[in-house]
Amino acid sequence: MSVASRTPAQTEPGFESLQMCGVSRTYGRTRALVDLDLELTRGEFVALLGPSGCGKSTALACLAGLQPLTTGSIWRDEVRIDTVPVEKRGFGMVFQNYALFPHLTVQKNVEFGLSMRHVGRDERRRRAAAALDLVQLTDHAGKIPSQLSGGEQQRVAIARALAIDPEIVLMDEPLSNLDAALRIEMRTEIKRLYQERDLSVLYVTHDQEEALSLATRLVVLRKGRFVQSGTPEDVYANPVSAYVAGFMGYRNIFAGHVAARAEDGAVHVVADDLELVGRLVTGGGTDNAAQGTAVTIAIRPEDIRVAAPSAPNAIQVMVEVVEFHGRDLAVRARTNRGVAIHFKTDEPVVAGHRATLSVSSERVLAFAGVAGASRDDDS
Ligand code: ADP
Repeated sequence: MSVASRTPAQTEPGFESLQMCGVSRTYGRTRALVDLDLELTRGEFVALLGPSGCGKSTALACLAGLQPLTTGSIWRDEVRIDTVPVEKRGFGMVFQNYALFPHLTVQKNVEFGLSMRHVGRDERRRRAAAALDLVQLTDHAGKIPSQLSGGEQQRVAIARALAIDPEIVLMDEPLSNLDAALRIEMRTEIKRLYQERDLSVLYVTHDQEEALSLATRLVVLRKGRFVQSGTPEDVYANPVSAYVAGFMGYRNIFAGHVAARAEDGAVHVVADDLELVGRLVTGGGTDNAAQGTAVTIAIRPEDIRVAAPSAPNAIQVMVEVVEFHGRDLAVRARTNRGVAIHFKTDEPVVAGHRATLSVSSERVLAFAGVAGASRDDDS
């Protein structure tokens, strides 16, 4: 069906796809979203990823109906919903600050969305009890939020979102206020609920690890614009720019240039005293770059290993700092000219000693004609 033939209407049960089409949102002179297309298809867990201020929360608020669009439209299948009020969109919502009513019991908090929808008392109680059971908080139903831990409060917020039996759940940094251990526990809980309840989830986060571990698809934003979308595996292995690489754990990022072409479309790149063979990634997806072309080189710590001095793509370093991380060591070393190299190893490297490192040329990404070294520069 063409866009022109779609008409505004209220939401109905059952959906295949939720779409933002060309959505822009400006606050005064700030362009929070710029011509953004975004889709959530049934059964997906999409993580919207990007640094603070890149427009993630605004995108979620526009979808939820909490913020009006400046331009563009939102569609649930063939039905235009950007003028449908929040409570009629039928989305479950979970926010960073839990947004619980402090004076209401856990039970009443979970019943709240049902009351708003005029669900009768007995049905309300039954559904709230089922939602509390789902997040394993049945024993806490009579408490008020301040009597619960942060993790328990967030579980109440999740129970409240799920009690209305939504097909689509929108989550905005739901774990950022929790400590590290709880965050990992709640991450698993969210994934379990997603799997058990056949949900479709749009999840806003600035945390790469959270996005990679939860999502079936990542969408990376930069300054309100779409940058890259793909499965976690794909975006992790093939970031389209140094900006995305920065989010995907490519901790070693250097400004350099192309010294020469190598075999099989590879390039020799130089950054200070680093001389490596790498894989060229250009803005247009081609593999052409003249000698002297400026590149941003990105390498993941996991892709660097301790090697023999004669290894290909060798990097001579002095080991500087060694951190014990359980299964492996996280190491910072420096080249002769002081370039910092981060790598992981289970070899017994020692601070103050020299070492030879090596990295596969496939795992040295050289970005040309695309964003530069920092996560949010303007190049
Ligand atoms: P993120 O969720 O990625 O941190 P936001 O969507 O919160 O980003 O913000 C995007 C941009 O819009 C930022 O520059 C922010 O300062 C601005 N912004 C967000 N909300 C408002 C608002 N209510 N009024 C004015 N500016 C806002």
